[in-house]
Amino acid sequence: MTSYKHSIIIAIDGPAGSGKSTTARLVAERLGFIYVDTGAMYRAVTLAWLRVGKPDIDVFLSNLPDISLSRDPQTHRQMTLLDGVDVTDQIRTSEVTKQVSYISSLKTVREKMVSLQRNIGSDHNVVMDGRDIGTAVFPKADLKVFMIADIQKRASRRLEEMKNKSKHHVPSLDELIQQMKERDTYDSSREIDPLKMADDAMLLDTSELTIEDQATIIIEKAKPIIIKHSHGA
Ligand code: C5P
Repeated sequence: MTSYKHSIIIAIDGPAGSGKSTTARLVAERLGFIYVDTGAMYRAVTLAWLRVGKPDIDVFLSNLPDISLSRDPQTHRQMTLLDGVDVTDQIRTSEVTKQVSYISSLKTVREKMVSLQRNIGSDHNVVMDGRDIGTAVFPKADLKVFMIADIQKRASRRLEEMKNKSKHHVPSLDELIQQMKERDTYDSSREIDPLKMADDAMLLDTSELTIEDQATIIIEKAKPIIIKHSHGA
């Protein structure tokens, strides 16, 4: 495994819509760390598979597309590149969301994405969110948080986000609840690196918390770690 002890890793995992990405981005911004949304990487692979017309999976796996991350020069937000082309918006369609759990359950896909993620964490302080960051990607992460929230809350938050941002079809609340449940079940029951809380993770139920509350809790936990690290521990 790549050594990453000279950088600080904050791993944030949890089911769909638990508030991971917004909170992780804010924490990273405040700490001056890089924010990495690993779900976007699996979404980009899924988009590639859909674009070539869902070919036989072994054929697709034998020549996986090139996925990389960049930063928007103005907003500093993560940009997801597929074969060098920005697909940040295109990976958010419901078609991609429907297929992403299948594509991300495949061993070849996971191996490639995990290796990219470890490379990023090997020389940057990062806040990385996903499903397996604290269990498989960085089992020795400096701080692990597992975020959960009531399904109704998760779905209504996601719906608001979609209404505000999405240029694509927005489903009903019930449809969204159903889709989230299915995705969580698939992600939790897959054979390789399933969605699971690490034994040494802090459980954070965000049902009644604001984004600001969540970020403050994580930053308070991170502070002593950063101080210790700056003293070379
Ligand atoms: O975080 P987001 O909902 O965009 O993730 C999309 C999907 O990517 C998840 O439902 C899961 O199937 C997959 N994923 C994963 N491992 C990660 C991050 C995401 O398998 N570390």
